[in-house]
Amino acid sequence: LKSLLKDPSLLEERAYINGAFVAGEGTFAVANPARGDVIAQVADVSRMQAREAIAAANTAQKEWAKWTGKERAGVLRKWFDLMMENQEDLAVILTAEMGKPLAEARGEIAYGASFIEFFAEEAKRVYGETIPGHQRDKRITVIKQPIGVAASITPWNFPNAMITRKAGPALAAGCAFVARPASETPLSATALAVLAERAGIPAGVFNVIPASDASGIGKEFCENPIVRKLTFTGSTNVGRILLRQAADQVMKCSMELGGNAPFIVFDDADLDAAVEGAIMCKFRNNGQTCVCANRIYVQAGIYDAFAAKLKEKVAAMKVGDGLEDGIQFGPLISDAAVKKVEDHIADAKDKGAEVILGGNPSELGGTFFEPTIVTGATPEMAFAQDETFGPLAPLFKFETEDEVIEMANDTIFGLASYFYAKDLSRVYKVAEALEYGIVGINTGIISTEMAPFGGVKQSGLGREGSHHGIEDYLEMKYLCMSV
Ligand code: ADP
Repeated sequence: LKSLLKDPSLLEERAYINGAFVAGEGTFAVANPARGDVIAQVADVSRMQAREAIAAANTAQKEWAKWTGKERAGVLRKWFDLMMENQEDLAVILTAEMGKPLAEARGEIAYGASFIEFFAEEAKRVYGETIPGHQRDKRITVIKQPIGVAASITPWNFPNAMITRKAGPALAAGCAFVARPASETPLSATALAVLAERAGIPAGVFNVIPASDASGIGKEFCENPIVRKLTFTGSTNVGRILLRQAADQVMKCSMELGGNAPFIVFDDADLDAAVEGAIMCKFRNNGQTCVCANRIYVQAGIYDAFAAKLKEKVAAMKVGDGLEDGIQFGPLISDAAVKKVEDHIADAKDKGAEVILGGNPSELGGTFFEPTIVTGATPEMAFAQDETFGPLAPLFKFETEDEVIEMANDTIFGLASYFYAKDLSRVYKVAEALEYGIVGINTGIISTEMAPFGGVKQSGLGREGSHHGIEDYLEMKYLCMSV
């Protein structure tokens, strides 16, 4: 892997604690999912070391909070610039450890960096408020202050961006940060630490602690009284565990959890645009994002035409090693991920669905899987309630608007949803009726640092991105003054 990088020093196997790159208690192996070969032995940080990182963050945070917003903006901007200057190397590292095609990895680096850029700007705009006094001699002022030390736990599907969209607002607000990356993808995180140091982010303000013992580190984050904020992206199940653990010290939590996104195509939709949107939405990152379409509902009048067109387009896409040119589908992250896709296909077939494309592990072997489309999907099938997180597009047929809204909302999740339609009153009605934090209307791609990303129901708490995103790292304090 080193030989593929312009700057090999970006490939860092050590943890980054208090401004120093350090060894762990041992190491754990990181494999390339496209080839199965081990590409790095990464520092395995113990719970004791995590405690040291938290203590260092605490000390550093006190000074960092004294910096002006503009001063913090300066080094964050530098960090952003370094990410973009090293975009290609960061993308190669990301693809090597995670598998997504290089073009998507480049996109993720730009997306991840955009959170640092955006929140660097927002560091200067943490405004307070004055409120008219309630008595003649009283003056009321509201100030916003950093929460303190924030700790993150992030997944493997966006090894760069899931960290930056937490660290960006945290650092901008004046918090210090301890990141525990997913054990599948720690190298994108340690590369960020290399660049943070070069950008001049002070020692202890940004720490990266790769660790194989996720639950031990999670407990430390929840039980250590220094940590005042936990920010998590991952499954709803682990989110629940962390919320329970965090309850003991009433810790502030942001949770970006699972989704089960509906993608609805009405008869009056632009068919070509809807097919394009569905492909980007369903198959980006091989279906391994929490905002990927999981259930595709197509109105009866265009169901067959939609299915035929989707099949034609997806059949032309290429599966392979993401580091090679012209690949749209990399491998899945693990054998367990493959098993889940297989189970969902088998269950659907049992219950009467028809596989019109793919349906099997790819002939490339490993964790490669054929992009798959099934027709005749029904609410009884497993994917109706459970996110597949893989390259399986189930097509449900519906007749009326009311019927599809009911089906779309029939889930404990509420992250992203999508629909294609032209009739203006329908657009408003459906957008308002969908119980989701995000609604894509005539588009399959909704992620941007400029907008508040987050879910309702059991998809999470809090928002990331936009000017709202920094609020998750700030406390409000009200000053009541008698004059
Ligand atoms: P995914 O399906 O994306 O792996 P998970 O919720 O299982 O979703 O994992 C998200 C992150 O949470 C990963 O970094 C994982 O290592 C971590 N994790 C898993 N279990 C726990 C736990 N009990 N406590 C803390 N972190 C955990």
